Order: sequence, then structure tokens, then C-alpha cells
Amino acid sequence: MPAEVNNTETEKGGISVEIEHIFPIIKKWLYSEKEIFLREIVSNACDAVTKLKRLMSLGEAKDIEDNFRITVTLDKAARTLTVSDNGIGMTEDEVRRYICQIALSGALEFIQKYEGKDDDAAKDGIIGHFGLGFYSAFMVSDTVDVITRSYTTEDAVKWVCSEAGNYEITKNYYRAERGTDVVMHIMKDEDEFLDENRIRGILEKYCSFMPVEIYLDVVKTEEEQKKEDEAKKDESAEDKTEPKPINDIHPLWQKNPSDCTDEEYDEFYHKVFHDYREPLFHIHLNADYPLNFKGILYFPKLAHEYDSLEGEVKLYYNQVFVADNIKEVIPEYLLMLKGVLDCPELPLNVSRSYLQNSGYVAKISAHIVKKVADKINSMFRTDRESYEKLWNDLKTFVEYGCLRDRKFYDRLKDSILYQDTEGKFVTLKEYLEAAKEKHENTIYYTADKTSQAQYIAMFAAEGIEVVVLDKLIDTQFINVIEQENDGVKFVRIDADVASALKAEGTAENNEKLAELFKKVSGNKELKVNFELLKNAKIPAVLNISEQSRRMDDMMKMYRAAGNDVGTMSFPTDATLVVNASSPLITRLAAEVETDEGKAERIAKQIYTLALLSQRQLTADELQSFLSDSFDMLEQY
Ligand code: ADP
Repeated sequence: MPAEVNNTETEKGGISVEIEHIFPIIKKWLYSEKEIFLREIVSNACDAVTKLKRLMSLGEAKDIEDNFRITVTLDKAARTLTVSDNGIGMTEDEVRRYICQIALSGALEFIQKYEGKDDDAAKDGIIGHFGLGFYSAFMVSDTVDVITRSYTTEDAVKWVCSEAGNYEITKNYYRAERGTDVVMHIMKDEDEFLDENRIRGILEKYCSFMPVEIYLDVVKTEEEQKKEDEAKKDESAEDKTEPKPINDIHPLWQKNPSDCTDEEYDEFYHKVFHDYREPLFHIHLNADYPLNFKGILYFPKLAHEYDSLEGEVKLYYNQVFVADNIKEVIPEYLLMLKGVLDCPELPLNVSRSYLQNSGYVAKISAHIVKKVADKINSMFRTDRESYEKLWNDLKTFVEYGCLRDRKFYDRLKDSILYQDTEGKFVTLKEYLEAAKEKHENTIYYTADKTSQAQYIAMFAAEGIEVVVLDKLIDTQFINVIEQENDGVKFVRIDADVASALKAEGTAENNEKLAELFKKVSGNKELKVNFELLKNAKIPAVLNISEQSRRMDDMMKMYRAAGNDVGTMSFPTDATLVVNASSPLITRLAAEVETDEGKAERIAKQIYTLALLSQRQLTADELQSFLSDSFDMLEQY
């Protein structure tokens, strides 16, 4: 900090004639979130150090000690927030060139065009077009001082600028060492930026991985200092710890993947995403020229089906945090993952429209998709056993990705697994191969192992494998599989009677019985078919055609998502398959002729039992089923 001023000479000036246009706009428009000013000022400080290091490596700056650091000093009493670095510094001439002149030529024109239009496109435009980073300090400050001393032999200078855009330059200012202090005099209404926790929070958010050590120093009042000294008196020498930087200057993603251990990946995950669970696995991205980006993506462990939607992919620009979940850079379905991406080729202040139209961004996105698919495929191929253990956590993500992006499906299609009712995992190919004889190209599935247990047992008795597809997303996912695999059909086990369940021969129709079942079902549309089933114990099963049930499911989903689908309702295409090989049905056929009342009671029970293994009964249905059952027991 400058202590005294010698032989100074002060000169006044205005940043530019049109400055009164630009300052209000900076305040209102520059960033939707004011806190970004701190990222801008600290990253300038970082750049100043990086530039000096570069000069050192080129041999253009000599005899410089390698103790680079940035200090952010909060002085509540003085209402200042100061960012100090010991980087390259600026000469007076450089202050005039770099600080006094905002790159205005195009900016003014642009601003005039958008003046008065408070829309996001305009905001994005201004951020994307012009490097106004330093001036963002004016979003929260009414005066900003820059005290800077170049690494060359030139004297230090002080530049003070008010919010009206008038500046003063003081030459021959005193600064003990090379570097720059940016002193922001915080405005009256922006007290939050004088709060220690708030500042620490912002630094942690944006600066956690910047490449120069950053320290936060809070100036204490006399009283606070006294209290602290008292407290420290009791501490032993060992307890007294050196101040720690708030950042990690060597983030894991910058390292060579072969130098990183599993523990380091896990530790990084816990720290960055505050998730105490272990991630399933990770992918270290390390794309060379021309893409030139690095990153680590983690597959989080899911607690339930929708947990994955809360992923978090942080975008960095040379270790400076830019934003979370930029869906222009990474496909939406990969945002279910957690991770970091560092893209030094993207401008720090990216505009959405720039990203949407950038060929470079599209390539990054494609590269990431490829890497993710490669990793999943290689796990499948190299260690199927471990892969199967992960599958249920991976499944929703993979299915969602396949729904969103057919290219992703194409890459992954051979590594998609289905779990059968016994817990065994199979690929589509394996399933179809095994089913070739009995039910070629048909995959039988259940959507609910409990309520469809009766059907599962029937299929199991005939050795037909049934896969479990019980998640909401499965309904849409099987549509994709059917579209992409000609001739392949998914059929729910309660949709039709598999030919393998039928015995030899044909059953005769019994019109009277059919009428009776229609009557007791209360459904005039009910179709009644007679079949010979192998399992004689089952008198009847209810089938709802696959197509009409899918339609129904879709409507339910639309409705659940709050869409108005009006009163349109699709008739449920139900068929009662009556098992002519069941002795109970044979008896019932005889009973219809002799005691119609009794036959009706039995038929109703049979129908309700079939319905029960299809779906839950409504309150009225259940009530009547219970009372009928009690009546029957009484006659026992
Ligand atoms: P940008 O960083 O995009 O160039 P800024 O408005 O943030 O735009 O900064 C303008 C210029 O001011 C920088 O390019 C740099 O030359 C100079 N500058 C800003 N902060 C510092 C600093 N801490 N040390 C040295 N030079 C700085």
C-alpha cells in the first residue's frame, strides 16, 4: 500500500467525451450478476502475474522473486475492497492506454443501438463483444483507485476515477514493490460487498482454481484485533497456522490423467460438488489441439430416478469459473453429470448467441459425447461384471441420452442392458438370440413385478424370459429401440397371450359364457376370447393391447406434466382370455345352463381376479369384490 507520496504531479482528465453514455450502461447492463466484478478484477490480477512469468521465461524480466500472490483486502471501516497483486504492473503510459481508454469505438455504437432495450440479447451482446472487465468495478464502487508500479524501472502511478468517469493521474506515486492495487470504494447501497462471508463466497465460487495463490485479508477494528489477540494467547505455537490461500492453483483437471490417483479424483469430487457419496466413475478429458480443453466428468450415484437431473457441470476459462450448466457447450443430457470443463479457447465473457453459433463449441460438445460413450463401452467390454453392478445407476442417464440424441444411442447401443425378473442382465442381442425359437423379435417385459406377478409366473413356467421396465422413462425408451431395430417389438406380459403359453389345439367359443363375462365386467366393449392355456389352474387373464396401453400411458404422462389434453380419452382395448382347459371354466359352462344366478356370481369373481392381476381395483370394485367373497365363504 502506498504510504507516502513524493514529488507528485497530478493531472485531470475524462475517460472519453462520451463516457457519460457508458457508465450508466455498465452499471445496468454489464452483467446480470454484480458479484462478477470481483472475478474480473481478480482475474486481471492473475493475468498480470501470468504475463510477468511469461516475460521471465523469455528472459525479458530478470531478478524477480517467485513469490507471486494476490491479496484481497476487505476494510469495512474504510468501505474499501482492494485487490493487490505483484504481477507485471503498469507504467503511466500503459495506464493511459489500457485503463483510460475503454475499447469504445464499436461499443458506443452498439450501446446506442440497444439503449433503452433491457433485454438479455443486448446484455449478452455487450458482454460478448467488449472486454469491459475492469470497468465492472463501477457496478459496486463510486470511486476506483489504481496504484500500480511496473516491473520496469519506471515510477509508480496512481489513477483515481469517479463514477462520473472523471479521472486523476498522479505521477511519481509511491508503491514499495512492483504490482497493482485496485481499490474499490464501495457504494452506499452495496454494503453486501463489505461482508466477509459474502466476499469469501464469491472468491470461492469464481476463483477456487485460479493459477495464482489468493489470500483474503480482513482489516480488523481495534476492538476486534484485541479480542483476537486475547484468544490467540492461549493457543500453543502449533495451533497457530499460517494463512491459507482460498484457491488450489493446480486443479486436478490440469494434471496428466496418468499422474492422478483414484483417491485424488474422489477427493476432488467431494470438495467441488459437496457430495459425500462416492461417484460411480469419472472421465478425464484431455483434448489437444485444435480443441484444446480439459476437464473431468463424474457419474454421480443416484438416490432415485430423478436425482440425476440435478447434475452440475462447471465451465472454466483458464481456471477462472465462468458459469454452471452451460447447455450450449455440453448436451443437456450430459448436464445430469457432475464435472468441470476448462475451455481456454472460449472468451471469458461468453454470450449465449456466440455459443449457439460457434462451430468450435459444437466440436467440443461432440468430442465430449464421444468420450462418454467410449468410456461406457469400454467398461462394458472389459469388465462386464462390474458394469452390471453399475448399470442401474447408469441406466436412466443412458436412456435419457438415447432419447435426446440418436448419435449417442448409435454409439452406445451394444452396451445397453436389460434386467430380467430373476435379476440377470442381458443385451438386446442376447435376449433376441435366446428367444429366437419361441418368440422371435418379441421382448416380453413387466412394468411392475408385484402386481403382474401372476403373469410373470405364467411366463416363467414356460421358460420365457421377462425383462423389467418399470421406470417412467422406459415407456419412451422402448419406442426408440423399436424405431431403431426393424421388426423388434416390446410386449408387456399382460398385453397378449404369448403363443408359448398356449396348449396344442383350438378352443371352442362359448357365446353364452362370453355374454356372461361381458355382463359381469360392466364393459360392453370387452372382447372375450377362448384359448387353451398350458396352465389349467388359471381360469382367465385380462389383456390390454400394447398399443392402446402405451397411448394411455402417454396421456397420463402429458396430464402429469400439466398439459391440457382435454377430455379426449382413448378406449382401453381389453380382452378377457378365457382358459378353456381350466376345469373351473368347464364347470361354469355347465352351470350357465342350470343355475344362471350362481354362474353369474362365479363369473364375476373370475373376472375380478383377472382384473386384479392387471391393475389395482378402484374403491367401488374392491368393496364389491370383498362383499361377494364374504358371501361365498358363508356358503362354504
Ligand atoms: P481485458 O482484461 O479483457 O483486457 P480489462 O478492462 O479487464 O480488459 O483490463 C484492461 C487492461 O488493463 C488489461 O488488458 C491490462 O492490460 C490492464 N490491467 C488491468 N488490471 C491489471 C493489473 N492488475 N495489472 C496489470 N495490468 C492490468
